Formats: sequence, C-alpha cells, structure tokens
Amino acid sequence: MREANRLSQISTSMIRRMFEIVERAKKEGKEIISLTIGEPDFDTPPEVVERACRAMNAGFTHYTSNFGLEELREAIAERYGVDAGQVMVTAGGSEALINASLAFIEEGSKVIIPTPNFLSYFTYGKMCGGKIVQVKTHDNGFLPDVDKLNEVVDRDVSVIFLNYPNNPTGAVIREKELKAIVEIARDNGAVVVSDEIYDQIYYDVKPTSLAGEENVVCVNGFSKSLAMTGWRIGFTIADESLLDPMLKVHQVNGVCAPAFAQKAVADVFAESLFDSIVSRMVGEFRRRRDFLYAELSKIYDVVRPEGAFYMFVNVGEDCMKYAERLVEMGVAVTPGLPFGDYNETYVRISYANSMENLQKAVETIKDYESQKA
Ligand code: PLP
Repeated sequence: MREANRLSQISTSMIRRMFEIVERAKKEGKEIISLTIGEPDFDTPPEVVERACRAMNAGFTHYTSNFGLEELREAIAERYGVDAGQVMVTAGGSEALINASLAFIEEGSKVIIPTPNFLSYFTYGKMCGGKIVQVKTHDNGFLPDVDKLNEVVDRDVSVIFLNYPNNPTGAVIREKELKAIVEIARDNGAVVVSDEIYDQIYYDVKPTSLAGEENVVCVNGFSKSLAMTGWRIGFTIADESLLDPMLKVHQVNGVCAPAFAQKAVADVFAESLFDSIVSRMVGEFRRRRDFLYAELSKIYDVVRPEGAFYMFVNVGEDCMKYAERLVEMGVAVTPGLPFGDYNETYVRISYANSMENLQKAVETIKDYESQKA
C-alpha cells in the first residue's frame, strides 16, 4: 500500500514527537501542566447541553439540508448582517476550511499564508497542490505589512488565508489593513479565506468581520465561542457564487452538521443567551491573559495578545529543546515550528488552563530561566 502523492509533503512527526515527550514524562510519574491546549478548558455551557438534549428528544437526529437548519442560518445571518442565503453550516470550522481549499486552490497556484499561522492552512495548501508563499510578520506585531503583501500577490495567487484573532499569536488586525488586503486580493482575482473562529474572544478592539465582502469566504463556528469543540458545528459566509463551488465539496464531505447541535445553537440565539455565555468565558480568559502577559513580559519579548487564548513567545533558543526541557520540569508548551517558517525560537503558550496552573507554570518557567543564567 502506498500513500498518495498529495500527502508526501505532509508530516505528523512534530505532533507525534511532542505527544511522545509528554507521554514519557507522564509515565515517569511527572505531573504535567499542559499549555498546549487548542480549545477552551471550560465544558460546553449547560444552557447549550440542555437545549441539545431537548432537540434530540424532539427528533433532531436526522440529516438537515446541506446548508443547515434554516433557523440557525437566519440567526447567523442576522448577527453578521448578511442574507441567510449566504450562510452554509458545516461540520466544524475545519470542514469549512477544507471545502474552501478544495474549491479555490488551483493546482500549481500560489497560496499566501502570513506566518506564524494556524498549521492546517499549510496542510490544506499542500494537499490541494498549491505553492505556499509565506509572508513574515514577526517584525510587525504579527500582522502582515500590506505593502510587502502587495509585492507577493499576483494573478497566480488563488487563495490568501487570514486568521484574526490569530492562532498562535492572538494578534488582531485593524479594519483598514484588512480591507486593503481584500482589495489586493480582488485586484488579482484571488479569494480571501478569512478564518474568524476566534472572533468572539477579544480583549481590546472588536475584530472586523469580512462577512458579506465580495471574493471573501468567512469561516467561523461555535467550537471556541461556545466551547463546543466536540460537537462539530462551523459555518461559512460567502457570496452565493462562492458558496456553490464549496457546496460541491460539502455535499460529499461533511454533508451536514449534527442536527441536534444545530438546533441547540439556534435556540441559544433565539433565547438571546449567546452573548452572556461568551462574555462569561472571555472575562476569565482576559484575567489569565493579563496575568500571563505581565509575568512573561518580564522574562521574554512578548507581543500582547488582543484575542484568542494564545501567546507566541520568543524564548531565544531552539524551540524543540526548550519544549523538551520544560516538559522535564512539568510544563508542556507547543514548539513554534508547525506554525510556519521563521518560528525556530518561538513557542505557543495556551492559557486555556486554570489560573492556579498558569501561576505554577510561570514559576517553572522562571526557575528554568534562572537555572540557565
Ligand atoms: N481555525 C483555527 C484558527 C483554529 O485554531 C481551529 C481549531 O483549533 C479551527 C479553525 C478549527 O476549528 P473547528 O473545531 O471548528 O474545526
């Protein structure tokens, strides 16, 4: 049996290696505080669970339309100021990203990814036969310089991936820069895939949504905002002319998101519960961000995250070695390498963990640095 060629450039070795390091430490009886987590540490709120149970009992256990339950599409459309016809519910944000990639990345075309960025974009780009062009953002607060981006975008570009608030940096781009990038894409016939999955988790400035913009596919979902990672509900907002190619993939890929989960979220919106649930969680994330930023900026050069629940820290040494040594001391972080080029000395620290654990982790990091000195 031979793996298909399209997967030849895709590796799982990094994730495996980190997993093995953590597992080995656990086997040795060490207690590990994991700051590698890519999902809220909160359980799905009871308001959502109760509504899902109600929905299951009411028979929401079948397929829905490929586009999703009408009441959920309408609730999303109202929130983002678009038409319900522009909304397609998917099996998680990931499914929406794959649909967009298969629909718009032409083989041999260029795929622009500002780095550091969510590792899946690199995988999707390669899987679809695209040529990845990375735009470095480290010297600009992890935001792409619009002029630099303009220099690399031409008619060979099929897709530009954007993600604000960003995983792994927490950076949020301002509206002016965001719109300028959309303009550049439009002038060159490229599609912007704007992954807005963290749009509810912000601390300073409300992130701009590109929902409703021509040549933009917005990807979003409830994995992060309602702590529903295991439920698999995402959505895409795009012009109908862009939804159509994505439907060709979705109809044979995700098909539809789980019906009872769609109904539960629709009811959360109908009963005006969404914002209060989100603000409970964001309040806690803010406390942790403030603590972690205050502490880590005493030790490292850190950019203050404005959203999501990650901090991307330049630790000034090989990130794999740093991560391995820190695990030995009881704290797991994610090395920067999977997030693109130029990240050899960076690690991602997730603060989706309790304040108590974050305090312990900071002490460990301080010990580690003082041993080195
Ligand atoms: N986009 C980004 C930037 C993410 O960080 C994640 C998950 O970590 C996803 C998309 C995927 O989310 P979902 O669980 O909805 O597939």
